[in-house]
Order: sequence, then C-alpha cells, then structure tokens
Amino acid sequence: MKERYEDSHLYKLRHSAAHVLAMAAIEFDPDVKLAIGPPIENGFYYDFQFSKPISEKDLETLEKSMAKIIKANFPVRHKELANSEAVKKLKKEQQPYKVELAEELKDEKLGFYGIDTFWDLCKGPHVESTGEIKAFKLLSIAGAYWRGDEHQPMLTRIYGTAFASEKALDEHLKMLEEAKLRDHRKLGKELGIFMISPEIGSGLPLWLPKGATLYRLLKNYLTLLEEEQGYQHVITSELGKADLYKKSGHLSHYADGMYPPIELDDEVFYLRPMNCPHHITIFGSELKSYRDLPVRIAEFGEVFRREKSGELSGLQRVRSFTINDAHIFCREDQIKDEFRKVVELVRFVYKKLELNDWWFQLSLRGDAKADKYNDNTLVWDKSEKILRETLREMNVDFVEKTDEAAFYGPKLDIQMRNVNGKEETIATVQLDFHLPKQFGIDYIDEKGQKATPVIIHRAVFGSMERFIGFYLEKTAGEFPLWLAPIQVKVIPISEKVSSYAQNVKVELMKRGVRVELDDSSETLGKRIRKAELEKIPYLLVVGEREAKDKVVTVRSRHTAEQASVALDEFCSSYLTDATLPR
Ligand code: ZN
Repeated sequence: MKERYEDSHLYKLRHSAAHVLAMAAIEFDPDVKLAIGPPIENGFYYDFQFSKPISEKDLETLEKSMAKIIKANFPVRHKELANSEAVKKLKKEQQPYKVELAEELKDEKLGFYGIDTFWDLCKGPHVESTGEIKAFKLLSIAGAYWRGDEHQPMLTRIYGTAFASEKALDEHLKMLEEAKLRDHRKLGKELGIFMISPEIGSGLPLWLPKGATLYRLLKNYLTLLEEEQGYQHVITSELGKADLYKKSGHLSHYADGMYPPIELDDEVFYLRPMNCPHHITIFGSELKSYRDLPVRIAEFGEVFRREKSGELSGLQRVRSFTINDAHIFCREDQIKDEFRKVVELVRFVYKKLELNDWWFQLSLRGDAKADKYNDNTLVWDKSEKILRETLREMNVDFVEKTDEAAFYGPKLDIQMRNVNGKEETIATVQLDFHLPKQFGIDYIDEKGQKATPVIIHRAVFGSMERFIGFYLEKTAGEFPLWLAPIQVKVIPISEKVSSYAQNVKVELMKRGVRVELDDSSETLGKRIRKAELEKIPYLLVVGEREAKDKVVTVRSRHTAEQASVALDEFCSSYLTDATLPR
C-alpha cells in the first residue's frame, strides 16, 4: 500500500517550512498578523496580514531569512498549553486570527510547535529540526480571504514549496516552467480554441471556430460510441422547477452552488445544477417492465454552477458548462454489467485520445463529514461493495479514498495529474439508490409488482470545458490526427500555382479532410513556421514542379522528413487515422 502523502516525511517537511516562512515574515514585518499555514499537495502556503503591502520582490528577502533559520538547524519543539492560557498568550502577542482559531477549539489543551523563540498554534506533525528542509523556494503571492469568506478581510497568501533534496526541487521547478508554456489559457488563445471576454463575463468561455470543431468532434465521437452501446440521446431544458431540486436534495445540500431562483407566473425555477431530474422524468414518463431495463439516457447537457468571480479560471472553473452526461436505469442484478461497460467505455475512449497516465479512484464516505451524506448505511455498504467487487473482477487497478463520495452515493472517479503535478478528478461514475426513491420512479418486475430501479450517473469526459482545457495542456495542443481542428494546410510557393493549390484543397475537402489554404503574401518560411506553431499535422507545400507532376510535398508535424507524393497516395498512406477511431 502506498504511503499517504499526509503521513510522509515530505508533508512534515513542508509543514515545518511554512512555520519557517512565518518566522521570516515576523522578522520582515514585526506587526504582521498570522493566519494559517498548511502543507498542500505540491508545497505549502501561509496567509498573512502585513502592515504594508508586499510584492514579489520581497520574496527574496523572506527566502534569505528562511535560509538562515534552516541553516541554524533549530530543533522543532512541541508543547501543550491549557486552552485559556493559549488564548491569553495569543492575545498578548496581538494575533487576532490565531486567537479566533484557539477560541473555537474546544480541546482542554492546545498544541504549539516551536522553532527558536517562535511558537505557533499547530496540530503538527513536523520534522525534528529545520535542517531537514534541504531545499525550498517561495513561488508566488496571491490574495485570499480569511476563511475563504468574501465578507472577511483579504489576506496575503505566500505559496512556496520544499523538498528533501535540491535535485527534487529543481525537477519540480522545471515542471512548473514547462507547465507555464502549456497553460491552456495561453494555448487556447494561440491555437484559436476559445476566448473569454469581459463584455460577456468571466467564467463564460466563447468557443472559437477551431475550438468548436474540437468540441464537436469529441461530442460526435462519444455519441457514436454511446449509441452503439444502446444509449439514447435526448435534449432537455436548462431550467427546471424548484420542486425538482427539493426532491433531488440539491436545494438542501448544494444551494450555495446554485444561482438565485427565477420567479415566473407564481412558479419558481432554477438554472439546473445537474441533468439528473430531467432524465429521471423522461424515464418515468412511460410504464416500464423489467424487460425494458436497462434504459440508458444520455445528453450533452448544460448545467450552471455558482462560482465566485475570484475563483474563475480559463476553462477550469466556469459558471456554466456541458456535462457529457448519462443516466443508466437498471435492475439491481444488472448493476455489475452496466458498471463494467462504463469502465470499459472510459478505458477505450481515453486510449483513443492517447491519454495513459490516469487512474481510477473509488471515492467512499468518511466519518469526518458524516452529516454531508444521506443516511442509509445499508445502501451505502451495498453500493461500495458492488463497485469494489466489479473493479476487482475486471482486474482494474484502483485506489480507495474516504470522504470523497457524492452526498447520495459512492463514486468511481477518473483521476489524472495536471501539468502542474496536481491531482484532479476528470470524470465520475456514481451508483445511486437514493434518487429513484425520491422521484418515485418504478418498473414492473417478473412477479408483476412495482420495483425501484437503480441509477448509474456517469460521464466520460466530465465537463466538456474542463476536459478540453485539460487535454490542451496534456497534449500541448498536438492533438491526434482525427481530432486536429485543421488536419492539413496547403501552402503554395508562389502565386503562379495558386489555382493548383486551390484544387488540392477542394479535392481534400471532398474527401472529408479538414483543410486550410495559406496563400497569404508572407514568405514561405514564415507561413511554414506559422503552420508549425498551429500544430497542424500535415503541410502540403506546392510549387511549379508539384503542379506539373500533379503531386504534393508533404511535411509532417513530428518528422523533418519530406516526401513528394500524388494526392491519392497522400490520402491513402498519411490520412489513415484521420477519421473517428473505432
Ligand atoms: Zn446525474
């Protein structure tokens, strides 16, 4: 079993580095107010209220003080104070955020960790001495509200990272540099995939022609595969009556993520946060027998999520997005089969997309946030067992993680690391015994009696927006041939051959190839360079010789090789993988 990050030496080391940063901040600004400073996935941060604004330049000064503290190799000590004594100490030190934290803790004794003369209210764990922090770097400054609440003061968050060796730090910094080049917001602009405009609003991306092509190809591809597997595609409304979301539990569990209600003719509507109620309504509209199941209802359905403006980012966090959603209504004895088919579909599609560094995560309940989940222990146990068993029977590698389930059931998550090395959930499959009861849907079983179906909620891409953003970064915009918005670019060497070049383009279009002609007045070198930056898989350069011999000179994206071939041969030997893969 892999060691949990929370139990690792690296985690302790980063936690201690955060304390060292706080010490450096006090030296830099003796009036600084300290908030919290936890380790995070790839490093740590600390939130401060400085007495004067600080800038990126000040990070160097802080780093210098940190280096001194680390070099001194102070032991990291631990002590406990009685609750009231701890509060008194923090009040005396004029640390209002720490006082607030201490006052909330009900424990009789509160833990402190000390480095030299600095004692910080903290649960630990930490390394033994500061010398164990072999390599560190402060990375950036951001604003962060105290407790993430916009009505609270805005604090200054300093992000940093720390490692047990210089080499590991260097590798991480190199990855961050590479990630900057692959930032989907940068690539999205350069490749003409999407834009975000302040006139429309942030969090509301606009798909540009090439992005729209990419989007449509992914949508067509999945629709095709789903229809082959017996899914039925529907289109439903983005608004729904309040009662739907009372029944679904969204208004009681998830109202913060929904937009304010819209009142119309004495009725209350919501922009939908999920597609489930619409699909359940379609299922329930006709009497079903056990022989009709499973019913698989699919839709590229747009949903809305209330996000704070400060949290919106490119295609990653948006205010409305499209889920490649489906709901499978089945009998209990069909769950395993259906679940298995979904897992197979995910594997197939990801393989065709040339994505290979992803994994399955079985996301289960946790005790920590028990009140978040609906309470039917029996059903939860049953669901968890079915999912685990199916994965084992399929010989699928997966990790289990508690406290990551949906409020109505356990999930199978598809996990991937983004280019910054951060783990993210891309898509999910969820087993649900809860909503069918809430909505009172049923079917007639073998004995002629009413029975309740089970719902499997599933998405292969998750949110189309997020998926495409992610895919842009993963591929750096070099899509497989079948997904490239423009597959071929024709470049005539001179005006003399422009009609031949035009002909080549038309012939390719007739064969369904996505092709562009660049007959602009730029030099040949510049046009070739531009096409390369656009990551176009094939360039066909044509001059007088090509026109006379009725051939094209092919330059491919990945090799320096060039070859002159007839157009038919180009299509038959280079474009074999140009259509949706089966
Ligand atoms: Zn659903």
